[in-house]
Amino acid sequence: MRTIYNCHAHIFTNQCVPEQFLPFGLIRFLSQQKFSQKLGRLLNRLNPRSNDDIFDRYAAFMNIGNYQSQQEIFNLLSGFYPQTTKYVLLSVDFDFMDAGKSPKSLLSQIEELAELKKDEHYRERIYPFICVDPRRKNIGDLVKEYIEEHHFAGIKMYPPLGFYPFDRGLDEVYEYAQSNKIPIISHCSKGGIKTHAKMSKQIKSHPKTGVEFKNEDEVKLSFAHPDNYRYVLDRYPDVKIDLAHLGGGPEVKNYLVTPWYEETEKSWFSAIIDLIRESNNIFSDVSYTMHEYELLPVLSVILSDPKVRTRILYGSDFYMVEMDKSERAFSMNLRSYIGEDNFWQIAETNPEEFLNITA
Ligand SMILES: [Zn+2]
Repeated sequence: MRTIYNCHAHIFTNQCVPEQFLPFGLIRFLSQQKFSQKLGRLLNRLNPRSNDDIFDRYAAFMNIGNYQSQQEIFNLLSGFYPQTTKYVLLSVDFDFMDAGKSPKSLLSQIEELAELKKDEHYRERIYPFICVDPRRKNIGDLVKEYIEEHHFAGIKMYPPLGFYPFDRGLDEVYEYAQSNKIPIISHCSKGGIKTHAKMSKQIKSHPKTGVEFKNEDEVKLSFAHPDNYRYVLDRYPDVKIDLAHLGGGPEVKNYLVTPWYEETEKSWFSAIIDLIRESNNIFSDVSYTMHEYELLPVLSVILSDPKVRTRILYGSDFYMVEMDKSERAFSMNLRSYIGEDNFWQIAETNPEEFLNITA
């Protein structure tokens, strides 16, 4: 029996998300209103020609965030896969994004995951990752505690929430990760959530390249840029990092439509592929990005490169991807397109290497 590993999934409830942060804040507000359950349907009727359109998908997404516990959300996720499937569960630290307080802090989010990891019904099926932010005090100690005492399997990072991955506040984390072969998954696309803080006052130019930023958005985008990891790799050449999402759908499209000359900036997708080729332990994952049919051919082609083939991980970005595709549609579309050999390479072989699982 083979094992599918979904290397990128989230099960935090909307209680973990700050109030000013849309769409989650909106979801929590709506969930308190009587009409919320029917909202998706209602909106859907405004566009009678659609079947499975954006409003239905949003309704699905909203409903999941409203579940009471991470355990319930996990049960929903695991219902889409064979029983033997295993899951990397990524916590997210929303505490420093300047969007207000959330009912549950990162600490209670990870405590809940630790409880799940203790439960014999879940223990073997889940790989919780602890989210790090250099602005959190004693982050190195927290990582050690959760990995050594609570059996977390790795480290999650979300730079667009307001820091560079080469921030020296993360040195202890990288040092520990490199010497213990602990895998790191870092958000690496232009989309997703971003800090609400006014960063342009604090940061006027890129701290390494010196390139000046024109506006707030440029600062926030620069946090997630794949080339930032070159500075991390200079100091920690063997650290194992999954630069998630292959740079994101728009950047894979950018790669498809833009010719490349020496002086033009590469797409984030190309920047990630280059890093994979040049370094020891850089991975990427297909989560969210590969829900778009038109991008699947690119995935098929890059999997023919012998090095890249060993560095791509299957993951869905549950339940964020619910905004665009159901979990089962995501995995079925991808698996049928790339074929069984490629599928097991990215859904079993590569994850076992990434997670240090020996058969
Ligand atoms: Zn994610």
